[in-house]
Amino acid sequence: MSGTTRGLRTDVCVVGAGPAGLATALLLLRSGIGVTVVERAGDLHREFRGDVLQPGGALVLDRLGALAGARDRGCRELGRFCVTGDRGVLLDVDYRRTGGPHDHLLSIPQPHVLAELLAHCRELPGFDLVGGHSVRSLLRDTPDGPVRGVRATGAGGAVEVEARVVVGADGRFSKVRALAGIDAPRQHVFDSDVLWFRVPWPDGPTGTARIHRGAGGAVITYDVHPGELQVGWSLPHGSYRDLARQGVEHVRDLVGQALPELADVVAGRVRSLQDLTLLDVFGARADRWVDDGLVLVGDSAHTHSPLGAQGINLALQDAAVLHPVLHAALGSGRCDRSALAGYERERRPAVEAAFRFQVAQSRMLFGRRRLARVLRPVVARAVVGGPLGPRLTHRVAHGSRPVVVRADLFGTGAVPQPA
Ligand SMILES: Cc1cc2nc3c(=O)[nH]c(=O)nc-3n(C[C@H](O)[C@H](O)[C@H](O)COP(=O)(O)OP(=O)(O)OC[C@H]3O[C@@H](n4cnc5c(N)ncnc54)[C@H](O)[C@@H]3O)c2cc1C
Repeated sequence: MSGTTRGLRTDVCVVGAGPAGLATALLLLRSGIGVTVVERAGDLHREFRGDVLQPGGALVLDRLGALAGARDRGCRELGRFCVTGDRGVLLDVDYRRTGGPHDHLLSIPQPHVLAELLAHCRELPGFDLVGGHSVRSLLRDTPDGPVRGVRATGAGGAVEVEARVVVGADGRFSKVRALAGIDAPRQHVFDSDVLWFRVPWPDGPTGTARIHRGAGGAVITYDVHPGELQVGWSLPHGSYRDLARQGVEHVRDLVGQALPELADVVAGRVRSLQDLTLLDVFGARADRWVDDGLVLVGDSAHTHSPLGAQGINLALQDAAVLHPVLHAALGSGRCDRSALAGYERERRPAVEAAFRFQVAQSRMLFGRRRLARVLRPVVARAVVGGPLGPRLTHRVAHGSRPVVVRADLFGTGAVPQPA
């Protein structure tokens, strides 16, 4: 190691302080496992990454003791998910019918969730955060040997973190995944990208996450703290560059055509292309999620369309499922791929089911084929009025398999180190 490289040693090195990384860190710390988080950004004021949390993710945060504090930082409850068209309401899903304490979608800025998770991590022994450092390589004794840490660089110089397991929680363009040689082929099953921006909304909270299918494309709207409306306008996949060449006025006109009631506020707020955030929508699943000394969680393992707000939800649920697997592996002193495989075995079918469901939702809501046009009102009636409605809503909210946070493993003391 060179004189300018700082060396750290821990049980688990988590790469990425997003929802997946910080939830994993807190779960492990609560069970007496040492964690060092390496994060590229210097703070948590990340660019817009979506705010809508499904009840399943809220439940994980709640069991971690981080939901109330995150909510106190500012949020909005959305009791309904609604799809409208130029001829009126097509679908109106009442989340309140799901029952329980988390009977709503939660619009909560990601920085609020992350700040709360981080505050809890900082209270626990064995935690370290290496902020403002990007992971550049994985530490291995031989090219095919087990991963035993990471090397990261940042303004403060280089850092080497030695760990018994590395958790790649570094998002949809995961460096850890690439360094491990794991492929995650893109699947362009969604034919739209989304342009996001916020507008003032003086009429007060709508309490609704809405998708409007207008002639000018679909527009997503929902309330955001502290009193604005988040807008996502869908445009044909890969078309943004051409559109941007025609200037911001053109974009404003198109959004106004798609949802005329927004035209005035959009004209007042969207002044330049810098006011817009483009989400390049694609789906992807990594070929494998575990290797010797390595695990992938959240977007680095699987990337989703924003439809159905599954990204943060699934990331938090991944962390909950990984927790007992890592606890057992570290306790046994064996962190090879077979000791970690239980995580992928349990999680992959649930994630695949969520992916398939998103694709079906996308085709049903936005499909232009005759079958979709014929089936749309039939499905809408079944969802709104029939017994299928609460079941489908519950499935979107919590996933196909219930996720349990193993609070019985909290406070179990330090996990034994191998001899
Ligand atoms: C514009 C947009 C809107 C979205 N809307 C929603 C929504 O409404 N609801 C929803 O559920 N999901 C939404 N998503 C998806 C959601 O943001 C992700 O699914 C979720 O954040 C995944 O969490 P994660 O922790 O796996 O990854 P991320 O949140 O992406 O976190 C990864 C972290 O790793 C860090 N990192 C990356 N590379 C390195 C490196 N080499 N070294 C160190 N650190 C690194 C990053 O800085 C980042 O902090 C949206 C995404 C985008 C981009």
